[in-house]
Amino acid sequence: MPADQPYWQKLRKSVEKIAIDYNYQRIDLPILEFTELFERGTGESTDIVDKEMFKFKTRGKEDVCLRPEGTPSVVRAYLQHGMRSWPKPVKLSYSGPMYRYDRPQEGRYREFFQFGFEAIGEQDAILDAQMIQMAMQIFRKLKIKNVSLHLNSIGCNECRPSYNKLLISYLNNRKKSLCMDCKRRLKTNPLRVLDCKEEKCTQVVSQAPQTVDHLCDDCKSHFTSLLEYLDEIEIPYSLRPQLVRGLDYYTKTVFEFFAKDDEGAQAALGGGGRYDYLVEKLGGPNTPAVGFACGMDRLINVMKKNDINPYYPPKPKIYLAQLGDTAKKKSLKIFEELEKSGIMVAESFGRGNLRTQLSQANKLKAEIVLIIGQREALDGTVILKDMNSGGQETMPFNKTIKEVKKRLKKNAEMAKKLALQQAKKKDKQRKKSGNRKKKK
Ligand code: AMP
Repeated sequence: MPADQPYWQKLRKSVEKIAIDYNYQRIDLPILEFTELFERGTGESTDIVDKEMFKFKTRGKEDVCLRPEGTPSVVRAYLQHGMRSWPKPVKLSYSGPMYRYDRPQEGRYREFFQFGFEAIGEQDAILDAQMIQMAMQIFRKLKIKNVSLHLNSIGCNECRPSYNKLLISYLNNRKKSLCMDCKRRLKTNPLRVLDCKEEKCTQVVSQAPQTVDHLCDDCKSHFTSLLEYLDEIEIPYSLRPQLVRGLDYYTKTVFEFFAKDDEGAQAALGGGGRYDYLVEKLGGPNTPAVGFACGMDRLINVMKKNDINPYYPPKPKIYLAQLGDTAKKKSLKIFEELEKSGIMVAESFGRGNLRTQLSQANKLKAEIVLIIGQREALDGTVILKDMNSGGQETMPFNKTIKEVKKRLKKNAEMAKKLALQQAKKKDKQRKKSGNRKKKK
């Protein structure tokens, strides 16, 4: 809604700035995709695919769905559009609506917005660290403080099968204590049992074997380098052995960001990780990759809760008023001329009464009102009314633009001077009261 747009604008601007600074190119992904993309990519046993997809058949009996996330689409586009031949890593960023059929509640919507970053074609842990750094930079830009980073490594095809065996055997011995979903997960996706939020499952899981203790040498040194990079850029992390993320494609690094005062499962601001097999799974060559996505609605909720200033675009300081039919006819053209020369103008062309137009200008805190009446419209002049002094003068229209710019500049300089004087005065008063306290 319009009232929320200053928050969205601030968020979009911050994400765009980071994308440009870190050399990520924007990609726009289709909202509608073949269902198979997510079944193969995100994984059939995940909650997203199993329970939450908005899927349906087209008239041609194709299975399609509203995208539940962006990563598989980015990889599909990477493969379909020849990005394999680009210099690596291919760095892409996106944002837009995602759809998941879940029970709507605060922070969990059926239509929600995400922005995401993906780097395809590089396995070095420095990229994992850079992803985390970018997310943190965005939170910093938004002035969202106290974001904590949860981190884990869940291994690769080398080390995960043997870890899975250990985990399954551990869980099988405690099967009775697991929830119904986890009993099913034990067969389809045992790792997911680790991040179940059911009380009885978390108790079982707290003693379960941990992925980090069973990593192969490659995964271990990858994770160690990531931790070293994070230390180097002074990003604190909290190691979370139970963090696996709800998507099938992750390998090695997984991470999530939480707003610190609200560390419930619902409050994850975003998350990501490495997905070294996804490109291959979707028909491409063996290509490592890493990425993350954040929930924009949730970030905005946090901004609002913390009274963070949104982005307010500059407001027009000029108001254009018109009186009579001839003037009204000219007003569209005059507005266009002003806009073309970079002057932002407010108006209410639907109103004919000058008094209501002037009170509107007052409400909008316009510094100058340009009035065109019948006579001005005929002889190509404008009445320039200075709202600060109340004075007004008539001048040829072709001189107005220069005059308006001159006055706006002068007003801005005056306002700056005044603000400086006030700041100095406050400073003096603060020092004075400080001295008085010292004397006491
Ligand atoms: P995921 O793709 O599940 O890893 O989600 C990444 C981020 O998107 C989460 O951390 C949330 O901030 C956000 N998110 C996921 N699902 C929803 C939802 N249903 N409503 C609002 N935000 C969501």
